[in-house]
Amino acid sequence: MDKFMKRAVELSAENVREGGQPFGAVLVKDNEIIAEGVNEVHIKYDVSGHAELVAIRIAQEKLQTNDLSGAIMYASGEPCPMCLTAMFYVGIEKGYYCASIEDTADVGLGASVTLYEDFQKPREERTVQMYSMPLEEGQEDPMKLWKEQN
Ligand SMILES: [Zn+2]
Repeated sequence: MDKFMKRAVELSAENVREGGQPFGAVLVKDNEIIAEGVNEVHIKYDVSGHAELVAIRIAQEKLQTNDLSGAIMYASGEPCPMCLTAMFYVGIEKGYYCASIEDTADVGLGASVTLYEDFQKPREERTVQMYSMPLEEGQEDPMKLWKEQN
């Protein structure tokens, strides 16, 4: 284990001692830490307060960019689909984790396993049901507007 993962695990343990969940993340670019995060769900009542997302938010704010390509995520726990998606959108293509989603499920934090399974099901069998509601005639189409302006 390298120094970056050691830091992520250390942050994770500190977070547990402070009443939070066992997740810490360190974002590294050019061999330097650009942001750190811990799971803040217990403090902020914000479902998106996962360690990886917190680190991404801090790095984006600090560097004023939507592009973190070349950055490497060190997460004490394997990222959930939400965090993995954020990594995808911001251009992070590489990362390391310590505890797997199965390890996480073993201590009672199994939402990631359920979600990864859910995404493999057909749309109509997923836990969260989303229904299409098309535009009415005469309504402005923001998609068309975007296409015209880009
Ligand atoms: Zn997450």
